[in-house]
Amino acid sequence: MTASPLIGVLALQGDIKEHELALTAVGARTARVRTEAELAQVDGLVIPGGESTTMSNLAIRMNLIDPLRAASKAGLPMYGSCAGMIMLAAHVTDARPDQQTIGGLDVTVRRNAFGRQVDSFEIDLDISGFGPEPFRAVFIRAPLVESVDSGVEVLSTLQRGGAAGTIVAVRQGVRLATSFHPELTGDTRIHELFVEIVRQHS
Ligand code: GLN
Repeated sequence: MTASPLIGVLALQGDIKEHELALTAVGARTARVRTEAELAQVDGLVIPGGESTTMSNLAIRMNLIDPLRAASKAGLPMYGSCAGMIMLAAHVTDARPDQQTIGGLDVTVRRNAFGRQVDSFEIDLDISGFGPEPFRAVFIRAPLVESVDSGVEVLSTLQRGGAAGTIVAVRQGVRLATSFHPELTGDTRIHELFVEIVRQHS
């Protein structure tokens, strides 16, 4: 394994460029993944935020949903942000009937969970293992994690307000997911953690 792993960014839809910049900033190489052949090249995969029903439909139409599921089953490290978290979730509350996910993360998520008045917000989070410096997290029509199976580590929950205690970052082995968008703030600690997971896995 080289010191600089090749991290794919699922490039069907969503904020692809921002993840590439964050990954490059922490020393990874990146590649856009739109085909099974491209997927086979990468050491890990980021699934960006965007719109999970659109992403699911595109993955089905481009014959990528089964290869993605197979890669997840085979243990390819994956990190999902926001819509990407929904794509990794084993169960989705409120999914459209035709919405399919990749799976691999044994959690139940609820889409668009924070209600209209707080569609988008920013908040400081404590993230397990990140030290005392808070993580400024941006939520945009974000999903929340309603429940986790045993084996899923909760990395962060909301601290204050009516939604205090809500799970917003999880890890299960080589799978990482956040309700928020770390690619938008310049704090690269989530991407660093994912690249470290990929390095240790390979
Ligand atoms: N609400 C979107 C969905 O359900 C996710 C939003 C996002 O990724 N910023 O897919």
